[in-house]
Amino acid sequence: MTTYRIKMLIIGSGPAGLSAAIYGARAMMEPIMVQGIQPGGQLTITTEVENYPGFAHVIQGPWLMEQMQAQAEHVGTRIMWDTIVDIDLTSGSPFRAVGDGGDEYIADTLVIATGAQAKWLGVPGEQELGGKGVSACATCDGFFFRGKKVAVIGGGNTAVEEALYLTNHSDDVTLIHRRDDLRSEKILQERLFNSDKIRPMWNKTVKRFVAGEDGTLSGLILRDTQTGEESTLGVDGAFVAIGHAPATELFKGKLPMDDGGYLRVEPGTPKTEIPGVFACGDVMDHTYRQAVTAAGTGCMAALDAEKFLASLDFAKDVPTQASAS
Ligand code: NDP
Repeated sequence: MTTYRIKMLIIGSGPAGLSAAIYGARAMMEPIMVQGIQPGGQLTITTEVENYPGFAHVIQGPWLMEQMQAQAEHVGTRIMWDTIVDIDLTSGSPFRAVGDGGDEYIADTLVIATGAQAKWLGVPGEQELGGKGVSACATCDGFFFRGKKVAVIGGGNTAVEEALYLTNHSDDVTLIHRRDDLRSEKILQERLFNSDKIRPMWNKTVKRFVAGEDGTLSGLILRDTQTGEESTLGVDGAFVAIGHAPATELFKGKLPMDDGGYLRVEPGTPKTEIPGVFACGDVMDHTYRQAVTAAGTGCMAALDAEKFLASLDFAKDVPTQASAS
């Protein structure tokens, strides 16, 4: 077991964590990044990416993350195959984190970039057809279903927003909800009901995702929640939008969170209520949730961490009352 005494610890390795690492390393903070259980984050489970600026042609999500990681290492980030299982923020900086193998990280600044994960239905065919017609992100993948039949599953803000977004690409969008009353905001509902491209389908759950002969999604087996009756809906794309879960278990009781479990930050900044602890990316953002916005807040976290570190150094250099007299 090893103890690492460092200036900057980054937990999480998606676009937010890696951007914080790139900026942190270039600011000579010699960051250590602990990758967690899904190295590279959510982009490693998407296929094509064409909304990340800087690439004229379609790129692959896993490839993009490899590039970000290589860039972070190139400028001096040390990346650890480890998962933080315990953290102590009680006495302020330096903070103490413990990895699952018992290694200990004592860090002056902490950047939390643990992300959020889309919730899945957990029914047959869903996992197998991921990236082959089944997705949890319309803004990422909707474009690939131009002119095709698509369905969105869910009745909250995310589902309605995804359905509305998909009308940019498809004239045939079905919103499948397990009840007959949407949970989403009224204004979104109004937009949904005013769209002639979206057809709500009430009281239905997805029992199974079905593959066609080419191995991609061809339809859904639905079950009526009132009658139990089964039916089939032919679709080329299905977007599961039943909520996201931020990865904040580790910070329960240690940092303030909103009702959805997202970390609270000072508005417009990545600052948590503990000086020296910053949160960036999807773990603090339930609104935008894009790779590029995560990268932006990761950069902000590193810049603020650098300022915090400078304030610590300044405090050390200021003579105390006793030594000054
Ligand atoms: P929500 O938890 O609000 O909604 C999830 C939806 O999925 C509900 O309609 C729920 O049904 C349904 N659902 C959950 N589990 C299942 C299941 N196993 N099978 C079928 N349906 C299921 O999640 P959202 O992602 O929509 O929103 C999360 C938070 O983010 C909310 O606070 C939301 O307001 C916010 N948000 C805000 C946005 C904005 O302000 N523009 C945009 C997107 C999200 P039921 O209703 O029956 O429980």
